[in-house]
Amino acid sequence: SRQLKTAKRISRTSIKREFVKVEIVEPKTALAEKVDVRDLSNFGFGALTEENITKYEQISESKINEQSRIPPDWSRVYAAIADMRVNGNARNAPVDTIGCGSLADLNAPPEVFRFQILVSLMLSAQTRDATTAQAVANLKTLPNGLTVESIRKTKENKVDKLICKVGFHVRKASYIKRTADILASEYGGDIPPTKEKLCELPGVGPKMAFLAMQEAWHNNTGIGVDVHVHRISNILRWVKNTKTAEHTRKELEGWLPRHLWSPLNKLFVGFGQTVCPSRKPRCLECQANQWCPVGKAVVRRRVSKSTGKSSSAVSVDSKPSVNTKRSVSIDVAPKLILAKRERKRSRTPSQSSPTRKKKLIKTESKQRRKLIKTEPQK
Ligand code: SF4
Repeated sequence: SRQLKTAKRISRTSIKREFVKVEIVEPKTALAEKVDVRDLSNFGFGALTEENITKYEQISESKINEQSRIPPDWSRVYAAIADMRVNGNARNAPVDTIGCGSLADLNAPPEVFRFQILVSLMLSAQTRDATTAQAVANLKTLPNGLTVESIRKTKENKVDKLICKVGFHVRKASYIKRTADILASEYGGDIPPTKEKLCELPGVGPKMAFLAMQEAWHNNTGIGVDVHVHRISNILRWVKNTKTAEHTRKELEGWLPRHLWSPLNKLFVGFGQTVCPSRKPRCLECQANQWCPVGKAVVRRRVSKSTGKSSSAVSVDSKPSVNTKRSVSIDVAPKLILAKRERKRSRTPSQSSPTRKKKLIKTESKQRRKLIKTEPQK
């Protein structure tokens, strides 16, 4: 025990404990920059800055066709929508996770990957993303997966059974079978590398062809205009009341910088699936509402309803600086709430609704009873 005590004493004296204070100092300016500058490169825009907005407007001015016109503030609207898609309430749209581009097998040989993209696009017409994803997953259960050869070996009614949940499945099953035969006989099992040749395949239109060129061949040859792109472009007055998707594509391509042609489809599809659906668009939450004619009207109506002013007297500021976050939707919301509260407070009993009248009477009688109780008895 004596030896143990001496050993303990030695260990106490020999080990010196040192405490080193480590401080990680990050410059405040760098932090502030990180928070303020938002990255929109997923949608081809780069950083969300005033310089980028002006730069893109100038690009489109320099490349404009003679017949085209540039919609005012288009780059601000693009940036606002891209910001909603990356950081706001339009992020995590179905198209981001189960869109046609993400359904193909990345580890498959390139020609199989491209065929799967084409089949996903053919199935996606008039069909929800989730249903398309399920149909593609069903086709992948074929022996050897979803390939040109496996489709050729499968009977048409079996293909139809596997895709029975998608819209126009009977017709699509026939298109897929015929396409597989053409690809095997004319293109060596791969898909054609041009938009024109893609459009010759059964059931493939310009939208599918442009998207297939982008997703399968990584070649940006034109804008893939679907219902969302066509509808939202018309709502924002980016095109002049076009009747067909093809007409919308031509007008957009007249002024939109070429590097934005490819991300535009995903941008508007996700936006249309979340914030701006055809039924009940959420205009008050939309960051682009100060430039959108529909959004402006909705904001005016809400403000006039809450303030009692006529809607024509309400002005919607359409020139905020770009980094201000949701200038109209955010600015208006608290005003609306305050105005509503103010009106409620200033209501006389005669102006109130029957339920509110009852409540008022109840509270008044309660107060009277309290007063009676607290009054000193004489
Ligand atoms: S303001 Fe409304 S209609 Fe206009 S883009 Fe936004 S959600 Fe769509």
